[in-house]
Amino acid sequence: MRSRIIKKTLDDLPVAPNWVDSVQAREHFSWAAQMCGLSGLPGGGLNLAYEAVDRHAQRDAGPHTALRILDRNGGHRDVSYAELSVLTNRFANVLKSLGVTPGARVFVLCGRGLELFLGVLGAMKAGCVVSPLFCAFGPQPLETRLCLGEAYVLLTSDALYRRKISTIRDRLPTLKHVLVYNENAEDIAPLEGALNLHQLLAEADDHFSIACTTADSPALLHFTSGTTGTPKGVLHVHGAALTHLVSGKYALDLHPGDIYWCTADPGWVTGTSYGIIAPLLLGVTCVIEGFEFDAERWYGILEEQQVSVWYTAPTAIRLLMKAGAALAHNHRFPCLRFIASVGEPLNPEAVWWGKDVLGLAIHDNWWQTETGGIMIANTVAMDIKPGSMGKPLPGVEAAVVLRNADDTLQFLGSDEVGELALKQPWPAMFRSYLGQEERYRRCFVGGWYLSGDLARRDADGYYWFIGRSDDVIKSAGHLIGPFEVESSLMEHPAVAEAAVIGKPDPLLGETVKAFVSLKSGFTASQALHDELLGHARKHLGAVVAPKELAFVDTLPHTRSGKLMRRLLKARELGLPEGDTSALENPS
Ligand code: ATP
Ligand code: MG
Repeated sequence: MRSRIIKKTLDDLPVAPNWVDSVQAREHFSWAAQMCGLSGLPGGGLNLAYEAVDRHAQRDAGPHTALRILDRNGGHRDVSYAELSVLTNRFANVLKSLGVTPGARVFVLCGRGLELFLGVLGAMKAGCVVSPLFCAFGPQPLETRLCLGEAYVLLTSDALYRRKISTIRDRLPTLKHVLVYNENAEDIAPLEGALNLHQLLAEADDHFSIACTTADSPALLHFTSGTTGTPKGVLHVHGAALTHLVSGKYALDLHPGDIYWCTADPGWVTGTSYGIIAPLLLGVTCVIEGFEFDAERWYGILEEQQVSVWYTAPTAIRLLMKAGAALAHNHRFPCLRFIASVGEPLNPEAVWWGKDVLGLAIHDNWWQTETGGIMIANTVAMDIKPGSMGKPLPGVEAAVVLRNADDTLQFLGSDEVGELALKQPWPAMFRSYLGQEERYRRCFVGGWYLSGDLARRDADGYYWFIGRSDDVIKSAGHLIGPFEVESSLMEHPAVAEAAVIGKPDPLLGETVKAFVSLKSGFTASQALHDELLGHARKHLGAVVAPKELAFVDTLPHTRSGKLMRRLLKARELGLPEGDTSALENPS
């Protein structure tokens, strides 16, 4: 039986941690004091891209490698902070030469290469609002997001343009300029209605006078994952830099000199907040790789690039677990000192797998597109309770609440289940849901933001994820969180992944049905079916354990790797599937 806690001592940590949790340290924290980690624009105001790039370039860190961009053939290109500063200036000048003014929406549909960084950071220098899109989206989800976000400029590769944009271009009335490049840095044949990015960059000036943005100027437009319904457009401001800086320092423990790898795609908020902004704010070197998942290559990257801090997601970890420990044991990771995960609940099995196989426990943290940055985390010096999301970061006040019918809040005590709420404001708090003012307003009650996730806080102040309010199952008067049931199933050696849903039941309200995919080497059978149900009953009790179980080859995920339980439920009950634009492998 595993212990319920992974103890940490400061002596075990190879680098002195940025954050050691204590009541005193929390009391001394203030956002105002943290502002000294940013410099502000020389003439006043705040700009995310200036803080992330130019601030370092103008100091001693100019020659330091900002980006190490890996190619498919084992080669790489290093880009220094100084070079990135000049190139992003040029991109901002390109926008200016096209007459693009501050506030305009610049969409970036780029693979994880240099152009992505030029587009995101250069557009922010020009005071534009940037929206990174996921390259794997088909024309329809792209059209939805480009229309909803009123795209004015689009940066993309010529191949993506031909495959995905040319057919919808006529239906994008606000889109004035399309900039294209070739992913292999080759010359591109002229494309009707599109401009050649690299030609324009070559003609652009190296210097740019950054737009007069302030902490309240809009900077980023993200779309939520669409796990529970139609993706929402979420607007963030330049002031979010402070949350990114502090969370990068305290939740990811980034130090100067770190080699950092974030595996998230910038089409999702993690890939922007922690794939671009936070690490650059902290002046570290980012490893950039954007090819399909491949366990062998991933281990190779961790080893060869000497990654010290790695931020990934539960689905990726589950895929590595599925690939087997032997593959990991072919590699050595002496530089790796911290692993974190976000996006979905991290099963205790996965936390322990990290410790057993990679030599480091995996640190779960929680946040949302709406929060803009990490809010609750297992930080490097904290004891880990596997299965818990950790504790609120300094500067973040969290609570577990019930929303009363009269729109007041009831604050719950230890171990009571309710909605996870955050005291407003914090620097990266979202400023609107695009075109949905009423929905935005309804997220806030009495000075608190209600997240829509259910959680409980234990007596030691650790938060435990129960489920999204839409996914929680109510059976025989009990509230059942899918995560607890799925984690229990995943403890069985045959199970690669599990998802559970509630099925209407005239007697019990709902009953639990599980969908399970198996690890290689295991075959579905009646005996295994019964064994899994028995295993769940033994560990969870008859009320919480699934009554039904089905074997499936794969489970439906969003492109950001989240289980789409609502889709399993719709299919099971023969209901409409709703918005599936974010589905990973639409059939
Ligand atoms: P949509 O809002 O469109 O349904 P989404 O909520 O999945 O999509 P994101 O903002 O990308 O979109 O994801 C945030 C959500 O992901 C959280 O509200 C939570 O439900 C889940 N999540 C993120 N991190 C964790 C975690 N560490 N543990 C449990 N759940 C997590
Ligand atoms: Mg959400």
